[in-house]
Amino acid sequence: NTFAEIDLGEAVNLNIRRCKYVKPTPVQKHAIPIALAGRDLMACAQTGSGKTAAFCFPIISGIMRGQFPRPPRPRVAFPLALILSPTRELSCQIHDEAKKFAYQTGVRVVVAYGGAPINQQLRELERGAHILVATPGRLVDLLERARVSLQMIRYLALDEADRMLDMGFEPQIRKIVQQMDMPPPGVRQTMLFSATFPKEIQRLALDFLSSYIFLAV
Ligand code: AMP
Repeated sequence: NTFAEIDLGEAVNLNIRRCKYVKPTPVQKHAIPIALAGRDLMACAQTGSGKTAAFCFPIISGIMRGQFPRPPRPRVAFPLALILSPTRELSCQIHDEAKKFAYQTGVRVVVAYGGAPINQQLRELERGAHILVATPGRLVDLLERARVSLQMIRYLALDEADRMLDMGFEPQIRKIVQQMDMPPPGVRQTMLFSATFPKEIQRLALDFLSSYIFLAV
């Protein structure tokens, strides 16, 4: 019932203490061990449940455990983890939190969202991104400009998936995930968070997740 009991590694645990988190929330308590075990996950989670940390902690910890591969091409970002979220506000919130969790770990987090000039975001991406937090429309733009490649994605988190579908992002999400299907199956770990589970979300889960665990807390 404490974060110290969960094996996230020294650096992440230190950042959790810096954030003054003492006790995992219910979704964290259940989701983090599932994610650390390498399983795909679909979780029911509302705003305020602590879902951001639930997917960020295992991603940061997993990246630190693995290697930090050198990007194969200059001027193109090859993120290892992608976090998709419906809005600029939510993306910025996730980015702010993820940066705190990744503090002094060497894991670099970059955000890209629509409705804002792209140049600043391009400059940030050029400096490298281990974790990319993005809205679907802006990410499709970046992929079309060949400034981001999803060939090295090992972790995919879909946050507020129902809201992304309500906003009409399903074609963009499918296009994005298609670009990840190059690595051998089983290499990518996917976590889908949603407040509701209409048929469309269940279909997305069937298409994107493999033998996933469904978590309702
Ligand atoms: P979220 O649902 O991810 O938007 O998180 C809601 C708020 O709860 C954010 O301000 C987090 O910083 C905070 N929070 C998340 N997990 C914990 C925790 N285990 N202990 C205390 N605060 C937390």
